[in-house]
Amino acid sequence: MRFDLLTLFPEMFSALRDQGVSGRAHARGIWTLGLWNPRDFTEDVHRTVDDRPYGGGPGMVMMAEPLSRAVAAARAARHAASGEDPDRVPVVLLSPAGRRHDQQLAAQWARSSGAILICGRYEGVDQRFIDRHVTEELSLGDYVLSGGELAAMVVMDSVLRLLPGVLHDAQSAEQDSFNPALDGLLDSPHYTRPEIWDGMPVPEVLLSGHHAQIAEWRRQRSVALTTERRPDLIQALRARKSQ
Ligand code: SAM
Repeated sequence: MRFDLLTLFPEMFSALRDQGVSGRAHARGIWTLGLWNPRDFTEDVHRTVDDRPYGGGPGMVMMAEPLSRAVAAARAARHAASGEDPDRVPVVLLSPAGRRHDQQLAAQWARSSGAILICGRYEGVDQRFIDRHVTEELSLGDYVLSGGELAAMVVMDSVLRLLPGVLHDAQSAEQDSFNPALDGLLDSPHYTRPEIWDGMPVPEVLLSGHHAQIAEWRRQRSVALTTERRPDLIQALRARKSQ
């Protein structure tokens, strides 16, 4: 899998490339990262990537041309690296106006060869660039971030941990919240040593070694937690089962 990022802050992505689970997977070549700074695709001495909005108003807007050139370079690099058809690469803009990212989308992406991700800054990106190049828009939620970089990293991390070989124990992703194989419920509570901490014991069943009873306890806790915190997920499950 390969992600190409168009960003004014390429150094931010070292957090994902070099640290933790995603860092190990990158070191093992499970995924690769291309970083493209629109400033490198400008021609003026100031390396200008933004300008004032037509119609007035506050802030600046990212210009279409440097972004467009950077997309072309990313497409060409992907083609050179893997023979991928440059016209079929998804070009995804992180945007509050996009579809809300979720586990189902992460699972879909995990079956793909990756994407070119556009990280907006300032007031956003010239609409003509979006109209010409962007194939989908993705949002993290109903709040505004200062830039698309953190959003892109969240999306990438949610995808990368689903790739075969990324997690030490493949089962841990299978037991996570929102997994369709577990009816999309929230994960059950976890406990580790010591058996009693601050006067609070670990639920006895977890010490029993009885796998069927432990599985049943976990399922019950998942259902109870989901019912309490996310009744919408229980409703969605009922709707799926009645189909
Ligand atoms: N003026 C824009 C608006 O009100 O919708 C917000 C621009 S924001 C300051 C700059 C960039 O951060 C956006 O272009 C987008 O790339 C990114 N961004 C902000 N909030 C986001 C969100 N909830 N999900 C994904 N990306 C977001």
